[in-house]
Amino acid sequence: MENIRYFDNAATTRVKEEVLEAMFPYYTKEYGNPSSLYSIGRASKRAIEQAREQVANLIGANTNEIIFTGCGSESDNTALKGIAYAHKDKENHIITSKIEHSAILESCKTLEKQGFEVTYLNVDSNGLVNLEELQNAITEKTILISVMFANNEIGTIEPIAEIAKIAKSRNIIFHTDAVQAVGNVPIDVKELGVDMLSMSAHKIYGPKGVGALYVRKGINFERFLDGGHQEKNNRAGTENVAGIVGLGKACELSQKNLEKHIQHLSNLRDYYISEVTKKIQDIKVNGSMEKRLPGNSNISFKGINGEALLFSLDEKGICASTGSACNSGITSASHVLIAIGVQSDMASGTLRVTFGEDNTVEDVDYLIQNLIFIVNELRKKMDV
Ligand SMILES: *Cc1c(COP(=O)(O)O)cnc(C)c1O
Repeated sequence: MENIRYFDNAATTRVKEEVLEAMFPYYTKEYGNPSSLYSIGRASKRAIEQAREQVANLIGANTNEIIFTGCGSESDNTALKGIAYAHKDKENHIITSKIEHSAILESCKTLEKQGFEVTYLNVDSNGLVNLEELQNAITEKTILISVMFANNEIGTIEPIAEIAKIAKSRNIIFHTDAVQAVGNVPIDVKELGVDMLSMSAHKIYGPKGVGALYVRKGINFERFLDGGHQEKNNRAGTENVAGIVGLGKACELSQKNLEKHIQHLSNLRDYYISEVTKKIQDIKVNGSMEKRLPGNSNISFKGINGEALLFSLDEKGICASTGSACNSGITSASHVLIAIGVQSDMASGTLRVTFGEDNTVEDVDYLIQNLIFIVNELRKKMDV
């Protein structure tokens, strides 16, 4: 369709032209295997190392603390299973939260089947974990705490520095899934005290199918993918050179644009939320208003079927989502909305609108206009 208005930037983002341009030569001229010793192989190797620097710079890490992976989900799997397996003979307890991405929750389920114990922390009505509950959940056997930096559905930003402090005081490794936070929030892993951090290129205007995992120097984990010695023996498989270059470029651009990016997205978000609140009755804005991703809005509309709302918006060329893209097709209420206590009749009428750099105020006006009309129409139908 021609006039697409895209408001699903938490699901994925458009690859920026500069990113694509940076990637292109590694498909055409510089296609050498980075492990090969001739010149085009070495060129690929150099490109990977430059990307590693760009990624490290964005989050305040050292270059040798960045491992490239196949996606954010792989980074999460590597962190959880890698730490669990490295400790399996001694300790077996992991703490996470109830509102994590499925890459974390499903990894935990697998680990539970293998004999590990997992505590799932509650969150309050804003989606924030309780630090006291975290303290109390820690046992002699706790090896890992994994709490997401920012939630992909409701945009709530967790108290990462405080969690890191607690983890450190008890000598426990702290991992955070920062796939939604990177490029949207200033991040310095050293300042925050994070031990491991997951990120993904396609959420920050880079290509799909490439991610990175920050692993603080001195942290030992069992590698997830066996095979060759790539990534200092931490992740086998011939590197996705072009993808990695794209991730690096996306990180460089993110770092350059961060302030403007945050300003632009939070302006659109605040405008949208305030207009919808003023103009549509019987709604509930989900997630913390203060500790919130700049581009996230998540609103429940009473008496609305979320899927019907999405289809009607789609007819107008508007892309948004009911929850996370990973859970679409599943009709049960979102585990995140359940965890923050949204009633099921409200939860089923939830619209997540996530803004991106391409969005304009005019786009948002178009969205609001159509949303008001569609919600009214759908509610009329419900009444008869
Ligand atoms: C998108 C996302 C992931 C998964 O990243 P992929 O690169 O799509 O595998 C993990 N965690 C969060 C919070 C996400 O938003």
